[in-house]
Amino acid sequence: TRVYVPRDSSALALGADLLAAAIGREAAARGVALELVRNGTRGLLWLEPLVEVETPAGRIGYANLDAADVASLFDAGWLAGGEHPRRVGIVDEIPYLKHQQRLTFARIGITDPLSIDDYLAHEGLAGLKAALAMDGAAACETLVDSGLRGRGGAAFPAGVKWRTVRNAQAAQKYIVCNADEGDSGTFSDRLVMESDPYCLIEGMIIAGIVTGATQGYIYVRSEYPHSIATLEAAIARARAAGWLGASVLGSAHAFELTVAKGAGSYVCGEETAMLESLEGKRGIVRAKPPVPALAGLFGQPTVINNVITLATVPVIFARGAKFYRDFGMGRSRGTLPFQLAGNVKQGGLVELAFGVTLRELLFEYGGGTASGRPARAVQVGGPLGTYLPESQWDIPLDYETYASIGAVVGHGGIVVHDDTSNLAELAQYAMHFCALESCGKCTPCRIGSTRGVEVIERIRSGDTSEKQVQLLRDLCDTMVSGSLCAMGGMTPYPVLSALEHFPEDFGLRTARPN
Ligand code: SF4
Repeated sequence: TRVYVPRDSSALALGADLLAAAIGREAAARGVALELVRNGTRGLLWLEPLVEVETPAGRIGYANLDAADVASLFDAGWLAGGEHPRRVGIVDEIPYLKHQQRLTFARIGITDPLSIDDYLAHEGLAGLKAALAMDGAAACETLVDSGLRGRGGAAFPAGVKWRTVRNAQAAQKYIVCNADEGDSGTFSDRLVMESDPYCLIEGMIIAGIVTGATQGYIYVRSEYPHSIATLEAAIARARAAGWLGASVLGSAHAFELTVAKGAGSYVCGEETAMLESLEGKRGIVRAKPPVPALAGLFGQPTVINNVITLATVPVIFARGAKFYRDFGMGRSRGTLPFQLAGNVKQGGLVELAFGVTLRELLFEYGGGTASGRPARAVQVGGPLGTYLPESQWDIPLDYETYASIGAVVGHGGIVVHDDTSNLAELAQYAMHFCALESCGKCTPCRIGSTRGVEVIERIRSGDTSEKQVQLLRDLCDTMVSGSLCAMGGMTPYPVLSALEHFPEDFGLRTARPN
């Protein structure tokens, strides 16, 4: 019998290693033969550690286990799917999972992340083989036709970026994967790296052969040690299997891949600061132009995409541009892995086509707040995303619709706050975060964030005069229009949305006019 015990960070943090050891010991003591597979997570994080037993009816889940449960599981006959208080039934049938549209995340939790055989048995390399059979220009157009846009937050069309790099003349080109996932409440990049690393590797190889780049870097934040270890092990196996090196799968294309570790700076998630860091310099934002597609890493043409963008490439090449484009709405094609976090009962990964609403995500998937109190505000798109009040929870999530209400979809992070939250305090924290993480290159962000903390503090301390509120609005206006990058340019989003929708938290009775 096969028993799956997840090995990603979320399960490990909840004792999955101890649990796996206890299952092995108990099986040995009872003389029961079982095969223990360390799979990735299914992304149903509130159920972790979620252990699955393979039965003829499907994989049966047992949730929130710890080592103390193991003896009773064997007593209950769990290897045949026996009843037990922790049994949650066939995992694929759990509505949270069953109703998702998993394209990028089709394999997570199902396979052993480091098993190449498992990867190949689940459509692995189908995209790369299709791309190898295509002309590079046609491959770029496939990506353009798919409608895939950068999933890191900027939403720039990925195929257009690839085409620019492909058409650039240079002896050396690079593929850089931005895995500096620093937004609050986000973890989708981590899930790919820890639960399906070959998918990202395959996407990067495709990017390399299509654009003519022969070297790739995955820039991973240092706070993700398990991601780094899993990627390094996967890259070594991929190299041994002939996917990397002088001849990718026996073709005329060469491609190599290296993992680079960040040093804990939020702004290094900004693409040009990341390039500086990769070059061994302090992570300070570069002015654009030139765009990295023409003069990026070491001054050479460089594709910079985030993890989800690159991990979505294989399914597009395996199934075709139309297949992917048929999901979504408007100019937002395909799916987005939403990440439910904060004060939510059922936190985890929900991959769905664009167009879903926050209300569906919060209640049909999230199950409401973890505290059981009414949800009050939801921050979408990371620490610099807007706070959405309930009146905006029925607006479809897509890039353009969100932009039209001054909100951002960003990297798909969704952080829920209940009615005990104080939005003025959270707005002040946004300014404080910016002051801490600013790279210091431009004045509106470097100085403005510190002054912003002070002005909000004065308002919260009782000076609710028109003068103070106007000062805060003017400061936000300067940061939005005068900052060099999104760090300073977006910090006002949470502040202004808190002021607009939750003025009472600032001690103001009504929202002030602009
Ligand atoms: Fe640096 Fe902030 Fe200016 Fe961005 S906005 S370049 S983080 S100082």
